[in-house]
Amino acid sequence: MLDEGTIKELSDKYYNGTIVGIERTHETLALFRIKPDFPVPEYKPGQYTTLGLGYWEPRHEDTVKDGELAEKKTRRLVRRAYSVSHPVLDEGGELYDPAKIDFLEFFIVMVIGREGGPVPGLTPRLFLKNEGDRINVGQKFTGEYTLDCMQDIRDTVGSLAVFAGTGTGEGPHNRMIWDLLTTGYQGKIASINVVRYKKDLAYEEKYRLLEKKYPNLTYHALTTRESDTLQNKVYVQDYIESGAFEEKVGRKMDSADTHIFLCGNPAMLGIPKVREGKKIWPEGKMGVIQIMENRGFVMDYGRTKGNIHYEKYW
Ligand SMILES: Cc1cc2nc3c(=O)[nH]c(=O)nc-3n(C[C@H](O)[C@H](O)[C@H](O)COP(=O)(O)OP(=O)(O)OC[C@H]3O[C@@H](n4cnc5c(N)ncnc54)[C@H](O)[C@@H]3O)c2cc1C
Repeated sequence: MLDEGTIKELSDKYYNGTIVGIERTHETLALFRIKPDFPVPEYKPGQYTTLGLGYWEPRHEDTVKDGELAEKKTRRLVRRAYSVSHPVLDEGGELYDPAKIDFLEFFIVMVIGREGGPVPGLTPRLFLKNEGDRINVGQKFTGEYTLDCMQDIRDTVGSLAVFAGTGTGEGPHNRMIWDLLTTGYQGKIASINVVRYKKDLAYEEKYRLLEKKYPNLTYHALTTRESDTLQNKVYVQDYIESGAFEEKVGRKMDSADTHIFLCGNPAMLGIPKVREGKKIWPEGKMGVIQIMENRGFVMDYGRTKGNIHYEKYW
């Protein structure tokens, strides 16, 4: 255990941002609004930075316990990557004016962990924090998961941009969709979100308002643990393969004028290993990447710029 003076010294040294707002969706899910002390560099919708807290900080009791940490480690920061999300609408129900945003929003779930598995380092500490508390924010904003890859359809009337996320994988999509809406994208925009329970859909209310304003936008919510869906779980893969998604969006996903963005759980993505140019697909339920490649889409891989883009969270 470090003494109070050392903790203050380390906090002053490492913390360079303030938590200015926390919207707790429920006990293990929240939107964190953070104001860095430094001017936020230009970054692209979909990119991420890091958040960090000292190992000296207390951990949430409802997560797997960590062993006694060596004193040297307790003086360090635990840092993790977080996609920049977006509040989307302001209090008046209008698309947020960029001039009024002086904070970064992050959509984060507390990882509980399991006995014998890796001990989650950051989120059990983050979820004990309150408004006004200090935090470390990475000064580098980076990532290839951006809208740059859809330049070919950006001006195509009636084209289609599909965003599919599991859990907090919705975060970067909020920032990307906000960008498409504010820059007058003329194609259709679809946001598919699969979560365990309806209560996990932190942004749904805002999107239902947006759907009324923007007829080219549709929001698709899928739950896997609600009593009405438990016996008939629909994952993104099923929603696409059954044709239900295309029916709701009112058109086919055509590789000529569609881009699909996937973020979150690796099982939903189903990223293949590539050996000597050959794709080896993961075993088990087919992921969205393979489903879409079977339909003539191409995933981003190395120098191959395709129309399936993904961000893996773990
Ligand atoms: C580019 C990028 C962007 C990310 N953006 C976000 C984001 O916007 N919001 C967000 O909540 N997370 C995001 N993550 C995940 C994040 O970096 C952390 O891994 C996560 O918050 C858990 O941190 P932790 O230190 O508590 O646990 P860790 O020590 O990171 O992980 C402990 C274990 O939990 C697993 N795990 C990690 N995340 C999850 C999860 N969400 N659900 C279930 N198991 C998980 C890991 O595989 C590991 O085995 C992102 C990851 C990457 C690579």
